[in-house]
This record gives sequence, C-alpha cells and structure tokens, in this order.
Amino acid sequence: ATMPHAIEVSSLSKSYADGFQALKSVDLTIRDGEIFALLGPNGAGKTTLINAICGIVTPTAGSITVSGYDNQKDYRQARALIGLVPQELTTEAFETVWSTVSFSRGLFGKPRDDGHLERVLRDLSLWNKRNNKLITLSGGMKRRVLIAKALSHEPRILFLDEPTAGVDVELRRDMWEVVRELRDTGVTIVLTTHYIEEAEQMADRVGVINEGELILIEEKNELMQKLGQKQIILDLN
Ligand code: ATP
Repeated sequence: ATMPHAIEVSSLSKSYADGFQALKSVDLTIRDGEIFALLGPNGAGKTTLINAICGIVTPTAGSITVSGYDNQKDYRQARALIGLVPQELTTEAFETVWSTVSFSRGLFGKPRDDGHLERVLRDLSLWNKRNNKLITLSGGMKRRVLIAKALSHEPRILFLDEPTAGVDVELRRDMWEVVRELRDTGVTIVLTTHYIEEAEQMADRVGVINEGELILIEEKNELMQKLGQKQIILDLN
C-alpha cells in the first residue's frame, strides 16, 4: 500500500451562515514533508481553508483527509497529527512559557517531562525563558511560544496562519529560518501569506487562492512565470 498524503482535500466548499461562499470546490494535495504556501489577498479564503482542514470550520461539501484519516469521522486521530499556529497572537498574560506548553501537551494525554517539551523550547530558543510570563515577551518571542504550543503534542503537520503578518524584516527572516528548521525535523508545513516573495522564499510549492478558488498550484520556481502566462493579477499588499 502507498503512504497516504499528508493532506487530501477534494471538492471542498464552504458557505458561511450568511450565505457567503468562502471556498469553491477546492482540490488540494499536500505531500508529506513539504513546505506548502497558500498565497492570496485579504479575504481570499486562506484561513477558511486551513481551519476546515484542522476541523475548526465545518465544510458545506467535500472531504478532507489527514494522513488518510477523515477529519470529521476520524477527528481524534486527524487532530492529533495537526498543530495550528493561529493568526492572532492570543496568549494568556500571566501564564509562563512552560505552563503554556505543558498544559497543551497534557491535553493530548502525553507525559510533560519526557524531554519533548525541552527539545521544542531549545529548538525555538525559548528554554532560557521558560519561566517568564508571556506578557513580558516580545512579539517575536510570543510567536515562538505559539509555535512551541502547536508542537507540544508532536504533530506531523504544522499550519501557520500568516506567521509574518505585521512583522518587521528581521523577524520575518527569523520566522523563515524557524520554519525551515522545523521542516528539516520532518514536519510537513502549511503556511498562508500575502507576500509572493515570502511564498517563493519559504515554500517548495505554492497554491494561489483568490475569491475562494484555488487557481494555481506550482513549484515555487515556476510561480512568477505561470502567474504571468495566465495573466493572473493578484491584489496583494
Ligand atoms: P486574510 O488574508 O484577510 O486573513 P483570508 O484569505 O484568510 O483573508 P478568510 O478569513 O478565509 O480569508 O475569509 C474569506 C471570506 O470569508 C472573507 O470574505 C470573510 O469575510 C468571509 N468570512 C470569514 N469568516 C466568516 C464568517 N464566520 N461568516 C461570514 N463570512 C465569513
């Protein structure tokens, strides 16, 4: 038997309660071990798509599997394989770095002191700050804490929703490096971005989404050329 892909999305549509159709029959395969970027302007449907894959948004039609597990019927198995770093930097002011990641790991019924969390915090340069309250950390460090939290239960696939939105150039490069290092540990990465440059820098493949439609999936080196050939003009900022 062949290994199932990290993610298989087929004919996925989503209409919100007000009737707005945020996704229109999206088909997408994410390969094991790759960095995949979803590129598109504001409101294109990027967050809706990753929230649907993570089981937070219920699709109107279509199906999603995570390493072969149906993300609705086999939700627990699918969920255990997924880590999500949301767009908003929501952290508990008075919690420490350690309490945040260890609570999160505990939710998945995993031991807190088996060395996994220490490895994650060291990899993200957070180990020395493990006893600091989150409110005292810089924006860049808070982002790292949210990544550590998402990795706390040893997911195989990590979703990062606009990891560099509102981030200065230096911190952006820093995030790119963090993502590449994670990939080198074998984690499949899916991220969303508004920036063509960022998609090309970070990803192995790029999917372009516009008004709820996945209009192009390309290896990163062919992206600019293909956008030009198809005369796709994105209103990116
Ligand atoms: P951004 O880059 O601004 O984060 P996005 O590509 O992630 O945008 P989504 O957040 O998926 O886009 O939103 C897609 C569309 O769906 C937008 O027009 C948005 O207003 C709409 N939308 C999102 N959530 C809801 C909701 N709960 N009810 C109705 N419409 C919604």
